[in-house]
Amino acid sequence: MVTGMTNQRSVTLLGATGSIGGSTVDLLVRHRARFRVEAVTAASNAKTLAALARNVGARFAAIAEPAHYAELKDHLSGSGIEVAAGPEALVEAAARPADWVMGAITGAAGLRPTLAAVARGATVALANKECLVCAGRLFMREAARAGATVLPVDSEHNAVFQALASGRRQDLSKIILTASGGPFRTWPLERMREATVEQALRHPNWAMGKKVTIDSATMMNKGLELIEAHHLFAAPSELIDILVHPQSIIHSMVEFRDGSVIAQLGSPDMRVPIAHCLAWPERMEGAAPRLDLVQIASLTFEAPDPARFPAIALARKALVAGGGAATALNAANEIAVDAFINRRLGFARIVALVEETILETERRGLLKEPESIDDALNIDHVSRSLARELLPQVAAMAS
Ligand code: NAD
Ligand code: MG
Repeated sequence: MVTGMTNQRSVTLLGATGSIGGSTVDLLVRHRARFRVEAVTAASNAKTLAALARNVGARFAAIAEPAHYAELKDHLSGSGIEVAAGPEALVEAAARPADWVMGAITGAAGLRPTLAAVARGATVALANKECLVCAGRLFMREAARAGATVLPVDSEHNAVFQALASGRRQDLSKIILTASGGPFRTWPLERMREATVEQALRHPNWAMGKKVTIDSATMMNKGLELIEAHHLFAAPSELIDILVHPQSIIHSMVEFRDGSVIAQLGSPDMRVPIAHCLAWPERMEGAAPRLDLVQIASLTFEAPDPARFPAIALARKALVAGGGAATALNAANEIAVDAFINRRLGFARIVALVEETILETERRGLLKEPESIDDALNIDHVSRSLARELLPQVAAMAS
């Protein structure tokens, strides 16, 4: 296939068995000649990881859960693919020499391995936004120190990254992140309180992993993305607006001081931003079906409703507060989403649990700016424990 790309690139996929991982593999196998796969990782799905490692011809496969080591080794016997397990094996995967690393683990669990790729100055395509919410300052500082290139995979940030290329940074007046509004965009609050896991998992435009899908339903995803944008583009909170755009065709925009607004459009298919990062600074052929604007016909916009989606204001508050507030927000949100999925917390209580956890960590004087990865993971750890402790009482709160 003609790709228009020049040099062969070696790549590693952290979180290879997930939704972003799968879309990346799809592009890699369609452009086999352009890429060589160094390492692939997963949490616990040994069978899928092994099949994928064979399919892409990886040299190294690492599984986070040590209990699945034997199974992975078994599935890969005779393949010549090296096998390892445990958290250190993920760090090893990231540290092995690959020009380009996809960070597609979900949650703060991705921080250590993704930072290992950053620390050796790799080009890191970052989907794992929780890394930046948990330890953004640290992450970007380490990237600058090591000379790593961080390319945004998240569709909004990828759009901003592309749009920013049309002007000078000092002329930028707004970053406008678009949001689909998720499955409950038009639901009244009373109905949202009763929302089930199945309803929350039914995203209107995107098929994604469970965590990010629930985050889209609460719109905490947009809160996390606000913090992500702050770190990626060194933009203060006031410079970043959020706009609901239900069709998910405009993936975000930037406004310059002369009033010009530059948008990036595309089909709601993650292969478009992933392909942009895979080929960057070149372009790849046919990542996803082309956009048919005549068929789409109309693009609409509305303001997010702060009463039904309090997560956005909470994330903005954590961003402005600085220190470890965003770290605590991210950790508590991971616990809250997991509790909701396991039917231990009502939908409308997800954000309440996050808020209560931040207040409690603050009361205990634990929210200083994380200066090291251990600091960040310590705030993360303590916040998770507090969120678990607060869970029964928040779950029982009248809504
Ligand atoms: P997913 O749940 O489908 O996949 C997650 C991957 O990470 C899997 O390979 C899983 O095995 C691995 N993983 C999960 N927990 C782990 C742990 N504790 N240790 C090691 N590995 C672990 O998730 P996804 O939808 O692909 O999302 C990945 C990241 O990309 C998330 O941060 C998400 O917010 C972001 N993102 C996803 C989309 C999307 O369309 N799916 C869009 C934008 C951003
Ligand atoms: Mg996004």
